Order: sequence, then C-alpha cells, then structure tokens
Amino acid sequence: MQRKSGAASEPSQGSNQTRVGIGYDSHRFDRSRPLILAGVKIEGYPGLLGHSDGDAVCHAVTDAILGAACAGDIGGMFPDSSEDNRGRDSIEMLTHAMGKIAADGHRVLHVDVVVITEEPKIGPHRAAMQAKLSAALDVEASEIGIKGKSNEGMGWIGRGEGLACMAVATLARADS
Ligand code: MG
Repeated sequence: MQRKSGAASEPSQGSNQTRVGIGYDSHRFDRSRPLILAGVKIEGYPGLLGHSDGDAVCHAVTDAILGAACAGDIGGMFPDSSEDNRGRDSIEMLTHAMGKIAADGHRVLHVDVVVITEEPKIGPHRAAMQAKLSAALDVEASEIGIKGKSNEGMGWIGRGEGLACMAVATLARADS
C-alpha cells in the first residue's frame, strides 16, 4: 500500500485514529533547590538539579505528548544551552508543547505517569499533580494517572541520588 507523503508531524487521515507516545526523564537530587513535580512544590525534600526547574514529571509528559504527535522532543524545543530556559517553569514548557501538538491537529485523551523514587511518597500529592496537569493538558483530572514506585533500595534511585519518571500519553485527532 502506498503511503501518503507529508511531514512527520502531520496527522494521518482517519478521524478515529489514536496515537501513543512515551517519555522518560531522570534528574539528580540537589538539596539547594525546591522539589517540584508536575508543577507541585513538595516541601521537606531535596529538589532536582537541572537547567529548568527540574520537574521530571512535566519533562516526561512533554516528551510523551510530543512523541505521540511525532513532533520532536523537549530538548529540541527548549535547549539547555539557552539562557532563556534557565530555571524555566516546566508547566509552561508543557503548555508550549501542547500548543504545538494542538496546532498539528491533536488533543490529549489520557496520560499515565510513574515516578520512581524512594521518597517522597507520591500518593499524598496525586490530586494536586492531577489538577496541574489537567489544566496544562486540557483534559479531565480523571484522565491523568500518577503513581509512585520505590526502587526497593536498588541502584542510584535506591541510594537516593535522584529520581526517574516514565510517562505515556494517548492522543486523538482534535476534530474527533
Ligand atoms: Mg528533565
């Protein structure tokens, strides 16, 4: 079957088509910074080292939606060589990525996130994180899964050197 040519980010025809993207991020802990995950400031724990605010949840979700749209990645959109991106609010970065995929004709149906870390516990912050991501992704909070997972003391996560985050996103055509 011959494929229709076009830019990689151009959605295929077919109103019922859904697309899935994956995102991953990891950051080292830095006690001098506040911990911000999914746009929520969590008191009493080391923050995350990074050129931006270090919000690994937002970064993984951003890559998941960009990946689902075949629209590049967060590093290309916000290079860490740019002073403009120093300390940048990652919810703002996610919102910018949303603008790009919306312009390409996509909307978010659902995201699911795993934060792999020994601490903090994610459960007590889940509702606040869902609210922040809901606003940024223009999707109901009930369509956002967020869970924490310990690494059972193993490896660099187990030693508390940093945390990792994985995300998947499902997109549909905006007109479906
Ligand atoms: Mg990152």
